[in-house]
Amino acid sequence: MSIMVSVAFLNPLSDKAEQIVRDIGDLSKIYDKNSDLIHAVDTSKSQSMSDNQNIPENYVELAIKRMEWYIKKKNDKNYNYKDYAFLFNREITRFDVVAFFILAQAIGIKFNSNSRESKLFVDLQGNIIEERLEELSISERRDVCQKILDELILQDNVKWTFLEEILSSKKISLHELILDKGEIILDKEDFLERFSDKISHRNPERMYELLIGDPVKELIMIKMIMQKTEDYVKKVNEMSQKVEPHPYLLEVGEKISKILSENIKYYTTSHGGMKGFKLNSEAFPPCIKLTLNGVESGNRNDAIVLLLTSFLSYARLYPSIFRDNVSVKISDVDPELKITQNEILPLIYDAAQRCNPPLFDDDPQEKLNITAKLGFGVHELPEIKNEGESKWYTPMSCDKIKIHLPALCKPDKTCKKIGNPLSYYKSKSWQLNKQGDNKEKSSKDKDKNNVDKSKSDQDNVNKVINPSPDKSVKNTKEADTLNGSDFN
Ligand code: SF4
Repeated sequence: MSIMVSVAFLNPLSDKAEQIVRDIGDLSKIYDKNSDLIHAVDTSKSQSMSDNQNIPENYVELAIKRMEWYIKKKNDKNYNYKDYAFLFNREITRFDVVAFFILAQAIGIKFNSNSRESKLFVDLQGNIIEERLEELSISERRDVCQKILDELILQDNVKWTFLEEILSSKKISLHELILDKGEIILDKEDFLERFSDKISHRNPERMYELLIGDPVKELIMIKMIMQKTEDYVKKVNEMSQKVEPHPYLLEVGEKISKILSENIKYYTTSHGGMKGFKLNSEAFPPCIKLTLNGVESGNRNDAIVLLLTSFLSYARLYPSIFRDNVSVKISDVDPELKITQNEILPLIYDAAQRCNPPLFDDDPQEKLNITAKLGFGVHELPEIKNEGESKWYTPMSCDKIKIHLPALCKPDKTCKKIGNPLSYYKSKSWQLNKQGDNKEKSSKDKDKNNVDKSKSDQDNVNKVINPSPDKSVKNTKEADTLNGSDFN
C-alpha cells in the first residue's frame, strides 16, 4: 500500500519540506551512497533498470537527474518516462526535497536570477509538480492542493494584489481568475455564497466547477511555488555575495553548467535545431530593411536596440528559436563570439550610424544597451565573462512592432503568413532557397538537355556516317545474298 502523499512532494518550500532538510543536517553527506534512496528508486513503478546510469545513488546525483529529466523531456525525441519514473514516486519525497535545495543553492551561488539556469530550474519545478499531480488520485490531488494553498495563502479572501508578483511576471493572467470586489475567489463555499443568487438557469455548483474548480486552484498553486522558487534562488544569490559558499555547492554549480551546455549543444546542433547560416539580406522583412537604412529619431533607439539587435543576432545564430523553444546563450552557438563581433555587431553599429541623428553620437549609452540585449549585461562590448548578466532578447512580435514602431511596418505578401520578423526571415529564406534549388535544377536540366540533345545530334550524325553495325552487317549480308542470288 502506498504512503500518503506529503505536501513536500509538490512543494519543496513548505514547512514540512524545511523540516526534512533540517533533519538531514549539513551538506557533508550529499555525496555519500544512500541505500534508502537506491531502494526507493529501484522499487518505483515502471522504472527502467536496463541502465545503471539511470539510478541516482546519492543526493547530488538525484539533483542532476532532476535537471537531466527536464532537458531530455523538452528536447529529446527519444525521451523515455521510464528512465525517470522514480521522480514521480511519492516515496522519494524526502530525498527529492534535499535534491531541490542542493540545486536551488548551487544555481543561486553560481548564476544570477536572470540566468537561463535559474529560469530552467523554475520551469522544471513547475513541470515536475504538474506531472506529479497526474500520478495522484482525484481525491489525493484535491486534498494536497488545498493543503498547499492553505499554507501559501494565509488570508481567507485573497486580494488580487496578493498575486501581484506572479501576475506581473506573467506566470498567470487576471483573466484566468474569478474576482469579486478585488478578491480572488477560489473556495467553493465562498463562490456559492457570493454568486448563487445571481446565477439563474444553471446549477451554481456546476458553474463553480466550470469556472474555478480544481484546474484554477492547481494553476495558482503551481505558479506560486514557481514564484517562491525564483525568489529563493534570488535570495541565495544575494547571500552568496556575503557568505563563502560551500565547496560542494560550487562543484554542483559546475556540473549544472556543464550538463546544460553539453545538452543544449547536443540537442540543438546534432538534432537539427540550431543552424547558423550566413545572413541573407534578401530574406529580411520590410521593417528590418527600413531599419538597416537608418531611422529617424522618434523610432531610432527602439528600432536599433530592441528590433535590429535581436533580429540580426537570432537570424544569424539561431533562427529556429521560436520553433525549438529552448533557453540558449550566444556562446552556445558562437563560443568565441567571433560571429557576434565580426558579423553581427558591425551591421548593427553601421545601421545605428545611418540614423538621423546618428544613434551613438546622440546617445552613446545605447551601445551598452545593445550589449545587454545580447545577454552580456550593461557593458561596452559582449564578453564571455559577463554572459548571463542579462537575457538574450528575442525579436518582438509584429503586433508589438505595429504598436511601438508603426512607421517601420510596411507589410508585403510574406507578412500575411507570419507573426514575427524572424518567422518572416525563416519563411522567406526557405522560399528563396527553394527557388534557388529550382533554378539550379532547371539550369542542370537545361545543361542535361543540351548534353542529351548534342548527344542525340551526334548519334544522328553517326547514324548517317556509320549506321548501326548490326544493321550494317545484316544489310551487307542481305546485300551480298541478294547480290549473290542475283549473280547466281
Ligand atoms: S508585418 Fe511584421 S515582418 Fe512584416 S513589416 Fe510588419 S513588423 Fe515587419
